[in-house]
Amino acid sequence: MKLGIFGGSFDPVHLGHLLAAQAAREELELTRLFFIPAAQSPFKPETRLTPADQRLRLLRLALAGKDWCEIDEQELKRGGVSYTIDTVHDYARRFPEAQLFYLIGADHAWQLPKWRDAAELARLLEFVVIPRPGQSAPDAPAFLPSDPEPIRHSPPLPAPFRARLLAGFPLGVSSSQIRARVHAGLTIDHLVPAAVAEAIRNQRLYL
Ligand code: ATP
Repeated sequence: MKLGIFGGSFDPVHLGHLLAAQAAREELELTRLFFIPAAQSPFKPETRLTPADQRLRLLRLALAGKDWCEIDEQELKRGGVSYTIDTVHDYARRFPEAQLFYLIGADHAWQLPKWRDAAELARLLEFVVIPRPGQSAPDAPAFLPSDPEPIRHSPPLPAPFRARLLAGFPLGVSSSQIRARVHAGLTIDHLVPAAVAEAIRNQRLYL
């Protein structure tokens, strides 16, 4: 059994997330993929996220009918700062026979060595780096260039991490861009699923 774990703020979920999920399912032949919305990212302590119930509602709309996708609310229920290692320990306990994969955007992957218990994370799962055009941090080290092509055939992360790069459908959409566009009165059609765009309008989110 191959299980994917996809953590994030999902504020809101957008097509970049959904295309990454679809590519990971196809390229890794995942059995199931778990979307795990964070209560609070350790790397964005000052960011006030949209309340969990609203983010969850949008995720449910985005994933409706995708029976290989599940939403895991454990980080929201734990509350406080969400550390990936706590969640991954839970998966390792619940699915001892499974091969675990953790999806992470190329913009975040270079920070992995700073994650809590990084060596333990590296032992428990393999990372799947999602290409993200124009989004790599300016001080990202050379092992993660903004153009993923040169590293397509070499490991995208240094040891002890086990990692592979997704081919995927690179898309430069972000949640902050969606929020900014709504705030500016611009359309978000085709950047999020139609049902998500409609719910954002109806709930008057991100105004
Ligand atoms: P924000 O703009 O608010 O920082 P975000 O668009 O990065 O949000 P998150 O929910 O924080 O969305 O992302 C969850 C994970 O998905 C992260 O690992 C992030 O790098 C990755 N990700 C998000 N959007 C994309 C994208 N368009 N392409 C590749 N990876 C992405």
